[in-house]
This record gives sequence, structure tokens and C-alpha cells, in this order.
Amino acid sequence: MMKRVRRVRLDPIFASTSYRCRYCHRDLLADVDLFVGKVRDHFHPASLGGADGDANRVPSCAACDRLKGSRQFGTVEEAREFLAAQRAGWQRRVEQIRLAIGGQSDG
Ligand SMILES: [Zn+2]
Repeated sequence: MMKRVRRVRLDPIFASTSYRCRYCHRDLLADVDLFVGKVRDHFHPASLGGADGDANRVPSCAACDRLKGSRQFGTVEEAREFLAAQRAGWQRRVEQIRLAIGGQSDG
């Protein structure tokens, strides 16, 4: 017997990447937090005059949206490279904080 699949309305912006972040490729269906945090990012920032329509929207995870901010990029690939560098910088900061907390708990 076939499993009955409930019909859901797919957001075309997210369906275009099978619900993956266009910048970091994270699966936005992997957990509820990623799904709830997903953003239809303005590729050309609205604050810089970017259009509001679907042609200027990119499926994004919350982190990429936050890290990208209102920066302007020529291509998605440029944005992707920028975001990878940002992530590496934040990763170092996270590790420093983790060490600092560890030091406190030891003292
Ligand atoms: Zn992302």
C-alpha cells in the first residue's frame, strides 16, 4: 500500500534549491531550528535599493543572512567565499570563548 503523503505548499524560492541554503548548502530541513530560521535573502540588499521580487531572493540560512548583512556582491559565488571567510573568523572566536569559559570553570 502506498504511503499517503500530505500535500504541502512549497515556497518556490526554497524549492529551487531543495530547501538548501544557497550560500553554505546547509539542508534547511535538517532540523526545526534551521527551518524556522530560514530567510528569503535579498541578494542585492534592500537597504541599497535591491528589488523586493523573487528574482532578487536567495534561499538562505539565518547564519548566512546575518553574516552577509547588507553587503553587496557581484555573484553568489563571491558572497559564498566571503561567508566562508567570515565563518572561519567566527569559528576562531567561538573557540577562544570556549577556552575562556573552560579556564573560568577550572579556576
Ligand atoms: Zn547558509
